[in-house]
Amino acid sequence: MKNMMRKSLAIFITLTMLLTVMPAGMCLAAGNATTGKVIYLAGDGVGNDSNDGSANAPFRTFQKACENMQAGTTIIVHKGIYTVKDERPTWKGTADNPITIKACDDPNCKVCAKDASLPGPVFTSKSDWTNSAEKASADFMVKLCNSSYVNMDGLYITGYTGAGIWPDGSDHINITNMNIWDIDDPADTAYGTEGILVTGTTDSTFKNLNIWDIGQSRRSQGDHGLYVGYGIDSCDFENIKVQDAPGGGIQFYSGENYDKIATNCTVKNCAFSGCKYGLILVDIEGFTIMNNTFYNSGELDMYFDWTAKDNLIQNNAFYNDRTEKYTDPKYGAQAPAIIGYTWNSVKKPDMTKTVTGNTFTNNMYQYSGNYPAICRYLGLTADGKNTEAVEYTPDKFVTQQNADDAGNRFTTFTEGTIGIASSIDKTGMKKGDAYEANISANAKKLIADALDISSFSSCVDKGLSTGAPATDILGRNRDAKVDIGAYEYQSGTAPVMNISLSNASISEKNKVGDSIGTFNETTGKTCTYSLVSGGGDNSSFTIDNNTLKANAIFNYSTKSTYSVIVAVSDGKNTVQKTFAINIVKDTSISDTFSLSNTSITEKNSVGAVIGTISAASDKTYTYSLVSDKGDNSSFTISGNTLKANTVFNYSTKSTYTVIVDISNGANTVQKTFTINIGKIASTGDTFSLSNASITEKNSVGAVIGTISAASGKTYTYSLVSGKGDNSLFTISGSTLKANAVFSYSAKPTYSVIVAISDGTTTEQKTFNITVLQSTSTGGNSSSGGSSSGGGSTSGGSSSSGGSISGGSSSGDDSTTGEPTGNVSPAFSDITNHWAKSAIEKIASKNIIAGYPDGTIKPDNQTTRAEFTSMIVRMMGLNTADTTTNFSDIKSSDWYAGAVSTSVKAGLINGLGDGKFAPNKAITREEAMVIISNVLTYLKVETKTDASVLSKFTDQNSISSWAKVAATNLVGYGVISGDAGKLNPQKNITRAEVCVILNSAMSLYNK
Ligand SMILES: [Zn+2]
Repeated sequence: MKNMMRKSLAIFITLTMLLTVMPAGMCLAAGNATTGKVIYLAGDGVGNDSNDGSANAPFRTFQKACENMQAGTTIIVHKGIYTVKDERPTWKGTADNPITIKACDDPNCKVCAKDASLPGPVFTSKSDWTNSAEKASADFMVKLCNSSYVNMDGLYITGYTGAGIWPDGSDHINITNMNIWDIDDPADTAYGTEGILVTGTTDSTFKNLNIWDIGQSRRSQGDHGLYVGYGIDSCDFENIKVQDAPGGGIQFYSGENYDKIATNCTVKNCAFSGCKYGLILVDIEGFTIMNNTFYNSGELDMYFDWTAKDNLIQNNAFYNDRTEKYTDPKYGAQAPAIIGYTWNSVKKPDMTKTVTGNTFTNNMYQYSGNYPAICRYLGLTADGKNTEAVEYTPDKFVTQQNADDAGNRFTTFTEGTIGIASSIDKTGMKKGDAYEANISANAKKLIADALDISSFSSCVDKGLSTGAPATDILGRNRDAKVDIGAYEYQSGTAPVMNISLSNASISEKNKVGDSIGTFNETTGKTCTYSLVSGGGDNSSFTIDNNTLKANAIFNYSTKSTYSVIVAVSDGKNTVQKTFAINIVKDTSISDTFSLSNTSITEKNSVGAVIGTISAASDKTYTYSLVSDKGDNSSFTISGNTLKANTVFNYSTKSTYTVIVDISNGANTVQKTFTINIGKIASTGDTFSLSNASITEKNSVGAVIGTISAASGKTYTYSLVSGKGDNSLFTISGSTLKANAVFSYSAKPTYSVIVAISDGTTTEQKTFNITVLQSTSTGGNSSSGGSSSGGGSTSGGSSSSGGSISGGSSSGDDSTTGEPTGNVSPAFSDITNHWAKSAIEKIASKNIIAGYPDGTIKPDNQTTRAEFTSMIVRMMGLNTADTTTNFSDIKSSDWYAGAVSTSVKAGLINGLGDGKFAPNKAITREEAMVIISNVLTYLKVETKTDASVLSKFTDQNSISSWAKVAATNLVGYGVISGDAGKLNPQKNITRAEVCVILNSAMSLYNK
């Protein structure tokens, strides 16, 4: 505040000094009065200064007309461009013989028609008035020096650096119906810029003015719509609309002449939109400030400082819906407030509470943006330093003021609902906008942008201000309506028109002229529809009868919602309605797609997963192979998973092309992926299997033979999962064992594909195993150990109920030795158990072991170590490597190999703290994750339809990390829950493990 005051002060001094050095002879003195003399002015091609200035022979220049002017003269100015620079006349009219300069107001004027593109007579100092980039060449159009009884009406003034018009020391000046804009100085001088500067002037009227684009180059808070200085008395400021002034809509400020307070003025029916301050009220007394609307002021709607006493502030509306703070280029950001007081004064440090004796009545506010309605005290101390601003709610502020001895009194200062014309351009009108190009439309826009209070407030009608016009700016009768703001309350008077638009969206990349929708009045009125000129985004649309059409090619990414403001008339009344038009994005696919893996090792199995296709965005697409293109016949796609449809052979063909159709439902694009075939390495060694046959009705676990290398070197052998008949075999060290009971009649030969690794190179070798017919006549169960025909003995023949292994089977709570099994199904404690069948099957495969006492303890919990061991056994994985990184597992622990293998295979993880917790009971959801990982490892396609979980009443208790696995297992029916519950957090029992494993194995043991 202090800075603003000093800035304004400096401006004033500079202008005053400039004035005093001007030679007085520059002022034009009026001659003797000749009542009724009329002089005509016209633009190029008609006007000529060698004419006599009559209607048929108009002058060309304003200067020539002024030379012939006397008291009582009227100058009629036709449309045209008039270059006028820094004129400083003294025009002396009288009450009976005023001097009048007015625009031609004949709508059928043939002279004006020659300049039909102009909004009216344009006064400028620029060589090109439409060029906002050109610096103006004069401070002002005209300074009325000590003039009297002068009327100026209907002029368009643009392109000056200081002010449009400057009445100084004058009286009875009436400036009406003017448009003033582009008053601007690109240099940051000490001068202020304002639409109109008024000093030392009395008994004058400033009415019906549109003022915008002031000081937009530097946006200094010293630049105002109007700057009304010292020595002002009995002036009316009425129906003035100022948009986006960097300082005040109107600044009243006496500067150095603070003893010449402005008195007895009215400010009424004005609208200040987007100005930093609506009104700056400094050194005013006896003002009536009435029926004004303040819209989105940046810092204060009304700012009081120095002396502001005995004023009436009534029927004003304060509206603000700013979502961001106003940022002054010099003083930074500030949240808006309704009223701001400065208690003390730099100029009068001895005075306090100089804002005194004011009456505030029947004012209404609505602050509906991001900033609450507040009033603000601005401390300005005697030493000129700002103290902290103090803010209060309006209620608190009013209470304080009414209790204060300064004599300011508030009644009916009320929050209400203010309907604001939605055509308001909240970004303001700034230099260089397209706004400059069409002055006529923009002047109308300024009117449309003014504020329309149309909703209820609890403020009551206090009557019209004295001398207020009978109609508001829209021509509506002001009688008998609540009188708040620049316009009035419309309750019960607004015509009911329910307007609908049949369709409110259009796809981007449209054509100009495309129809969007049709308007309809749903209560049956026949209405006409038109776009409100300059409102919203109306320039992008047209209306043809009742059809809204595109007038632009829309681009969703540039702007996705447009606002259309339509004037709807039923023949008597006109209402405005705003529609939002949504631009629909073109759904053609512009996403990026990638394949997670683009190679596969030769000698693969048909159905082997190669990789998954994913989109860079999160969008969902469907993927399919384009038939008969590329090498597509060698592949399949399931969901987004690319799989092999053939056994690849590197030496035959090492690169394949896959062409995929990718669809989002509306559109399809094709993408080509290249798949490289990987060659299987060779160790260079030769491998043989000591025995390649097995007699049927064997026991699970029966040894078939051992693999050895010709070189005698040591290799590690493992089964390649998912290939050949590998699921029916296991390898332990170099020993191949049966993992099923074979039947000669069912299938006499099997192939086993073994991965052989020397630590650096892995090659695959296929062995064919022959099943021999049994010669046994025994009727024993198949679990009875029988010797294989090959002479190899099984790892352990079992007798019913006995343990097959020398290893102690001390139970699943043991950590002293791996429980290796009781293959007998005849456990003593499951005779009537619900899971008897599954337990027996899993036990028969050596996956779970019984206890020495013949029990299996089906309802006991399962530890993480036990579960891991069972999984590894189920998969026949090599467990030779017992190294792990877990701090709670020693390599000598019986489960170390199982944990090591399953972690490396990605089946199971530790707890994340370097521990595995082998003896912790495993939960059902932990088990689900591991089983799901097993299925993925074995290349069983993953079920992803999560809706299967909805049937469980406790689905929300599934941990987020387990949902994918639960979906997969429930989808396959591997897990089915109990009594409508999945019980994910419960510990899993040994019986449940058997059921789940049995079910899981059926998915890949085909
Ligand atoms: Zn005319």
